[in-house]
Amino acid sequence: MRQDGFTIGVDLGGTNVRAAVVDEQGHILGADRHRLQSREPPQVAEAIVRASKTACAAAGIPFAEARGMGVGVAGMIQKGTGMVLNGPNLGWRDVPILKLLAARTPKIPLFIANDLSAAVWGERMVGAGKGVDDLLVVLVGTGVGSGMVQGGRLVTGGSGVAGEFGHIKINPVAFDPSKPSQAGRLCGCGMRGCLEAYAGGQNLAAWARDDLRIGAAAQRAAGQPVTAGKRLLELVNGDPEKITAAAMERAAHLGDELSRRLLDEAARLIGFSLGNLLTVLNPTKVLLGGGVLANSPRMTRLVIEAVDLYASKVARAACSIGAPALGDDAGVVGAALLAREAA
Ligand SMILES: [Zn+2]
Repeated sequence: MRQDGFTIGVDLGGTNVRAAVVDEQGHILGADRHRLQSREPPQVAEAIVRASKTACAAAGIPFAEARGMGVGVAGMIQKGTGMVLNGPNLGWRDVPILKLLAARTPKIPLFIANDLSAAVWGERMVGAGKGVDDLLVVLVGTGVGSGMVQGGRLVTGGSGVAGEFGHIKINPVAFDPSKPSQAGRLCGCGMRGCLEAYAGGQNLAAWARDDLRIGAAAQRAAGQPVTAGKRLLELVNGDPEKITAAAMERAAHLGDELSRRLLDEAARLIGFSLGNLLTVLNPTKVLLGGGVLANSPRMTRLVIEAVDLYASKVARAACSIGAPALGDDAGVVGAALLAREAA
């Protein structure tokens, strides 16, 4: 370890907490990861401190010597207060996580960020976006999210909630009561017609279940044999509740028409939205990742085709599209490096 000490980075998701001791160069010196036993805020704060101490022990460094701790949280973070305004995966609303942590680690400077802001900062500092001042990271996994760097600075917005790419509306008639037949799909945020409601892994699976039901009913009504989503259903042993985006991807490869149609539609919607984002923000690099896209070269290709189609030509020409380099480490590394800057 170098003279300039180390900081701790934490990645808090809805299921797991990860902590890592990170040096100035973004190297992980020690890490810990465990499942959350409870989502009650005080218990989660305890779990964060415990994981951080375990990571320090793994690195052979005393916890008390950390120069700062950065915590990336899956949720909307209020600027200035470190309050989690809304964290759907944790079931949190208005949780003062900064206060809860400060009470447990009074001597260590704390920094709270959105998890994707932390991830984009990790990629920007030591990953596939190293040295890129206008960078956009889009991750499509269980949900859809983004992180943005502009002019070399992390973009968090006026109140801290910028970058909620998954909640861009892609269905303008979603709320029109005169067009109930076109009602947009319901999103986890409570609104209708969000990109994530179609393209997030969890919602893709729900979309497939709905389409299976509708397709089967239509075939039955027409007196035809029920074949809708047959291969997908076979892959999940006939249990629609077991459908996942990964199962849809496998089914699509086996020629399942329904899976292929929904995955392709989701990819086009991501590309359409991302193309518009390119037109507005003019990034020089976009990193496309997350479990759903990492698992599907075909979807990634379709996303890029849609970006080519919808982004302004000049913005598209200035932008290269690649994949993130740090994988699951981006969040902890970025959070630790953000804490270093803040300290
Ligand atoms: Zn939404």
